Amino acid sequence: MIAPILSVVIPVYNEEATLPALFERLYPALDALDCPYEVIFVNDGSRDKSAAVLREQFQRRPDVTRVVLFNANYGQHMAIIAGFERCRGEQIVTLDADLQNPPEEIGNLLAQMRAGHDYVGGIRRTREDSWWRRFASRAMNRLRERITGIRMTDQGCMLRAYSRDIVDAVAASREVSTFIPALAYTFAHRPTEIEVAHEERIAGASKYSLYKLIRLNFDLVTGFSLVPLQMFSMFGMLVSAVAVVMYVIVILYRLFFTPWEGMVNVFWDRDILAFFLIGTLLFGLGLVGEYVGRIYQQVRDRPRYTIRAVLERDESADMASAPPRVTEIARSER
Ligand code: UDP
Ligand code: MG
Repeated sequence: MIAPILSVVIPVYNEEATLPALFERLYPALDALDCPYEVIFVNDGSRDKSAAVLREQFQRRPDVTRVVLFNANYGQHMAIIAGFERCRGEQIVTLDADLQNPPEEIGNLLAQMRAGHDYVGGIRRTREDSWWRRFASRAMNRLRERITGIRMTDQGCMLRAYSRDIVDAVAASREVSTFIPALAYTFAHRPTEIEVAHEERIAGASKYSLYKLIRLNFDLVTGFSLVPLQMFSMFGMLVSAVAVVMYVIVILYRLFFTPWEGMVNVFWDRDILAFFLIGTLLFGLGLVGEYVGRIYQQVRDRPRYTIRAVLERDESADMASAPPRVTEIARSER
């Protein structure tokens, strides 16, 4: 088998309804590129028949298909890491399994790689998602860019291409919870972005609830920056300074303008201010907890994911005669 130049990594979680359509478009699109490729599907502990569908596809195209089967659900980004650790191509493209990222765009990403970029991000031209998701993600995008300094026009777009060096660096990072496009960006020398088409999910539902989206954004911000903690110290200093100034003003009022004291009372509502400060404090405590939790996960150093089986063709066998062999392994990855 010729070593693949292009590796396509696809995380799969409960996508039995979309996978057949994905195969139908993905393989012809890749064949048309005229470049040796491999597709690595990582089944993220799907509870539907996705694993069986992937196994069938592996049997149909064992020359270019590899399947990693997780034991449980470890999240989209862990699935991509597992793909990164196994891919062999010089250029690596990540793609969603739900066909929201058209596989026909892969050629355009590769053209940018050939032009000398080592990181090509996708920007969804017209985003086919609900209005609140578009609004929330634009707001988060801007906040994240200010806080972390990571420039990604469209953080939610997973259709991206990375060079071998970047993928190696990402795979070598021992982070427990992370966000691949951002982590990869920190290793990039010449990143660029291009517009790509975006389609509606053809079947099934989004795997991201509002709760998961909020968690993801916490990962994104606390995983890449300490600025939120520093902002809290700044806010604390500001509150103390304002309190001192207020104290001086109020005392002066009381000394010299006693009749005006009513004025101060109009603006001064201790209960409401106290609630505001308590709310801020709780938020700050939770924020510190986010960092402490990450440190805790990291120092426990548990396996980040466990693999039930890997389906791939035995490279040592003669391609023409030997039937595809399935390597079944059960082991943990640190
Ligand atoms: N996914 C995954 N593990 C998860 C959640 C999602 O591997 O825990 C995969 C999913 O199968 C899909 C991709 O990640 O290929 C993006 O998920 P989804 O389309 O639900 O996200 P959205 O497009 O709504 O942001
Ligand atoms: Mg999707």
